[in-house]
Amino acid sequence: MIRHLLSGADPDLATATQILDTAAEMATVAGREVKKLPALRGRTVVNLFYEDSTRTRISFEAAAKRLSADVINFSAKGSSVTKGESLKDTALTLQAMGADAVVVRHPASGAPHRLANWVDGSVVNAGDGTHEHPTQALLDAYTMRSRLGRLAGLHVAIVGDVLHSRVARSNVLLLSTLGAKVTLVGPPTLIPMDISAALAPGTAVSYDLDAVLPDVDVVMMLRVQRERMNDSYFPSAREYSRRFGLDGPRMRRLPEHAIVMHPGPMNRGMEITPEVADSPRSTIVEQVANGVSVRMAVLYLLLGGNNL
Ligand code: ASP
Repeated sequence: MIRHLLSGADPDLATATQILDTAAEMATVAGREVKKLPALRGRTVVNLFYEDSTRTRISFEAAAKRLSADVINFSAKGSSVTKGESLKDTALTLQAMGADAVVVRHPASGAPHRLANWVDGSVVNAGDGTHEHPTQALLDAYTMRSRLGRLAGLHVAIVGDVLHSRVARSNVLLLSTLGAKVTLVGPPTLIPMDISAALAPGTAVSYDLDAVLPDVDVVMMLRVQRERMNDSYFPSAREYSRRFGLDGPRMRRLPEHAIVMHPGPMNRGMEITPEVADSPRSTIVEQVANGVSVRMAVLYLLLGGNNL
C-alpha cells in the first residue's frame, strides 16, 4: 500500500482496485444502525483545511469517526501568516501531536507534497489549488463502477472548466490507470493545450459537446470556477451554458445507460440545469454518500489496516 495519497496517479491498478473493493465493504457500515468500526481506535486523524469546503471536510470527518479514530479539525481559513511558513509551523505542531494521518486542503498547488516531507504520518490531499483532488477521483470511479458495473473500456466525457479543475486532473490520471477512455470537452480557453499529453496519453479533446454525447457512458460536468478566474474565458454565462451546459434536450442525446456526474458544488442553470441534476441519471447525491465509504477505505488502508 502507498504511504500518502497525493495524486490520482499514486495508486496503481492493484492498489486502486483494493481501495474500491475496501470502500464497497465500508459502504455496508453505512446501512447499519451503529455506523462504526473499531479499526482506527487510538489513531489520530487531523483535518487541515486552508480553503473552503463543505462536502469534502464533512466527508473526511465522518469517515475517520466511523473508523473510531480521534479527529482534530483545524480550519486555517482567515489566518494571516504567509503560506509556506505557516504550513511548515503547523506541520511541526502536528508532528509533535503525533498525527497518524493529515488530510489537507490548501489553495496552493503542491502544498500537500511539501507537507508530506515534514510529517511522519500519512498525508491525504483533499484538494490543492487547481492541481489535484485524488479522493474525489476515487469516489467518482467507485460511483461509475457501482452504476455501470465496470471501469475498463468506459468512455468518460469531462466537461467544462478543465483548466481550473483539480477534479478533472485527478480523474484523468486515475481513469487512465483503470483503463477508461477520457474525452475533455469545453471551450479552447478552458482546456490547457498540453493537457492530454502531459497527463495521460490517449486523452482526447473536443470543443463540441453535442458531437461527443451520443458516444459516452459517463458525462462529468465541472463547476465553472469563477473564484479562480482573473480574465474572461468565455463571452457570457449565457453563451457558456448554450454551448457547454447540460440541459434536458442535450441529456437525451446520451445513450440510455449513460450517467451524469458532478462533484459539487453546482452552479445550477450554468453548467447543469435542475432538470438534469435531479434526474434519475444523475449520480450527484450518490457521489456524496460514496465519498464517505471511499475516504474510510483510504484512511483505513493508509494507516495499515488489512483485515476488517
Ligand atoms: N468540490 C470540488 C473541489 O473542491 C469541485 C469544485 O469545487 O468545483 O475541487
